[in-house]
Amino acid sequence: MTVSHTPFTATVLGLPRVGPRRELKRATESYWAGRIAADDLHVVARDLRRAQLTELHSAGMDSVPVGTFSYYDQMLDTAVLLGALPPRVAGIADDLDRYFAAARGTDSVEPLEMTKWFDTNYHYLVPEIDADTVFALHPQKLLAELDEARELGVPARPVVIGPITFLKLAKAAADQSGGEVLDRVAELIPLYVDLLGRLAAAGAQWVQIDEPVLVTDLSEQEIALVRRTYIELAAAADRPAILVATYFGSTGPALAALADTPVEGIALDFVSGSTVSEVAAVPALASKLLVAGVVDGRNVWRTDLDRALATLGELRGAAGSLAVSSSCSLLHVPYGLAAETALDEHLRSWLSFGAEKIVEVQVLAAGIGKGADSIEYRLTAARNALAVRAQDPRLHDPKVRARLDALGPESIRRASAAHRRELQAERLHLPTLPTTTIGSYPQTAAIRLARAALGKGEIDQAEYRERMRAEIADVVALQEDLGLDVLVHGEPERNDMVQYFAEQLDGFAATEHGWVQSYGTRCVRPPILFGDVARPAAMTVDWITYAQSLTKKPVKGMLTGPVTILAWSFVRDDQPLGDSARQVALAIRDETVDLQAAGIGIVQVDEPALRELLPLRAADQPAYLEWSVNAFRLATSGVADTTQIHTHLCYSEFGEVIDAIAGLDADVTSIKAARSHMEVLDDLNAAGFDLGVGPGVYDIHSPRVPSVEEITASLRAALKAVPAERLWVNPDCGLKTRGTAEVTASLRNMVAAVKAVR
Ligand code: GLN
Ligand code: ZN
Repeated sequence: MTVSHTPFTATVLGLPRVGPRRELKRATESYWAGRIAADDLHVVARDLRRAQLTELHSAGMDSVPVGTFSYYDQMLDTAVLLGALPPRVAGIADDLDRYFAAARGTDSVEPLEMTKWFDTNYHYLVPEIDADTVFALHPQKLLAELDEARELGVPARPVVIGPITFLKLAKAAADQSGGEVLDRVAELIPLYVDLLGRLAAAGAQWVQIDEPVLVTDLSEQEIALVRRTYIELAAAADRPAILVATYFGSTGPALAALADTPVEGIALDFVSGSTVSEVAAVPALASKLLVAGVVDGRNVWRTDLDRALATLGELRGAAGSLAVSSSCSLLHVPYGLAAETALDEHLRSWLSFGAEKIVEVQVLAAGIGKGADSIEYRLTAARNALAVRAQDPRLHDPKVRARLDALGPESIRRASAAHRRELQAERLHLPTLPTTTIGSYPQTAAIRLARAALGKGEIDQAEYRERMRAEIADVVALQEDLGLDVLVHGEPERNDMVQYFAEQLDGFAATEHGWVQSYGTRCVRPPILFGDVARPAAMTVDWITYAQSLTKKPVKGMLTGPVTILAWSFVRDDQPLGDSARQVALAIRDETVDLQAAGIGIVQVDEPALRELLPLRAADQPAYLEWSVNAFRLATSGVADTTQIHTHLCYSEFGEVIDAIAGLDADVTSIKAARSHMEVLDDLNAAGFDLGVGPGVYDIHSPRVPSVEEITASLRAALKAVPAERLWVNPDCGLKTRGTAEVTASLRNMVAAVKAVR
């Protein structure tokens, strides 16, 4: 069937929801703490949504996304929509409390697992689907938000995550016998058809169905399933016009399949992968609305309006009609620049946050509709800002560039691992099964108070330093008392493992209010990498050498690796990421050398985000792995063979990057795997990995104190895969989110277990 519909011209694919001042975060946490009632929380949420709808409408958007609001996460919302919450929360009567229980657990209920949303730093909750899952439609939230928008007179376009993406990102329960989870799309189609009917009845002209999974590698069968699914959805008797939205990359072979269905619109991401020629190669697009994501939805740079307009001009002939959009949801960028008062004027003029992107979309749509002349002064302003940016000396530091150019192949090479092991053993005199921790110790109230007082100017730098030193002394004394072998300073001075370094490196800028949701109520303020990176002074040496002065045991220096620093920042778009990585690596390398010169024998360079930046398409992965591994090696190969390099990896499934882990050539790797440690160890063995490894022996993400027996069992299991000479003993991640009492008890048990096993 064909649906009568009017194409629109300007939109964004989704919206941030935590609030410009993190109002939703505060209200949600107050609700959790029992300080406010559910109704109070709903009011805060409603006011935030209304303000946003009004802003978009008055900016001139003729189609406004609705339903991308979430109290926690959009995948969790989709699980609710489709009746796919796990049975273990079913007993919780209250809708909101059941929802939050699935998101974050309760005393008696495990939450859903959390993992990264494609290659972003946003985490979604992984729906669990098993043989007993009976899908059922619960459209109340979406319908209510649609009503709310229509009452405001906003041309609302409800947004849902599509069935293919939902199933591909869900986890099929382990006991599910046979059958791919994707086969269950047949059960979902009737629910989506039902939903489409209700949305049409509620007055929606368009619906946006997000299928970002189409930018990943799909098999031919999967692509055929996509086509069949959208043919069936489009056959719904009553429905709005369907816009299928893809983002974060090129839609590749799935584009032709999708265009070969009766859906009325397709959204493509022209910032990260889609091209005009791909569109031109699909004649079926000539009868559809193409929603062209030409304004970057996940980075903060001002749009090159001339270029975007040229792209739009070329697309025009290939599509039935054209709308301008952000490349993805604005969830991934801060709300707006207006709140930033401390950015220098030039840098500010190069940036575009959420509010500015909305204007850019609108301006481009006007440019298409009324001709470039009608937006001439906007084009000029953008052109000028970009020209100033290109000329800014901070973007081209000849010293840094000359140093990097002069580096030869030896700059990423160390002596053989065996040779290093021998020299390091002589120097460090560690027992077998050495014990250590990942770096941070609990961020105590005293630390937070001191940081707040410094921020408000109540104490000065000298007083702050004294207080941090007191914390370091406490942590060192604790570790001595516990009998750990390799100590750390505890990272009390670090607000965040990336921000801390970004603040000290040239080329990075910090924002005041540039909060972006990472998951649930957790927000981060990614630094902006805008220029060439240089290290004006040592960043950590003072703290680490102070810790070392308090003990005879070795203290590990603690640094963040180049890939992780980039992964958790907004990065330059004017040079390849690999080039930025080399610059950051050089700064970290200088720091390792300074630590070594100050007498530090062990330096850890954390790369928890190594897996996160892995490109979504297999064809792009080898190049990424090459530059990312080489950046780590550049950062860590400047030290003598007697200096022991550690790294720490966590948060991910490492199977796909196991060779890269071996390629890092770190003397010791502590690793937290999402699934079982045994699996990682077996994978590492299969990859020929023969360096030191510390598979976390207990899970720090829970407040539970592991027993000596448990840790002993875990160690004995690890010893089946790794010989004792190579095995290290440590928790699976940093301890900063835990309380001192539980950390002390857990580590005491860890040391006791090691003594028993030794
Ligand atoms: N060294 C950091 C810490 O202990 C590592 C954090 C991480 O793994 N993300 O906190
Ligand atoms: Zn970790």
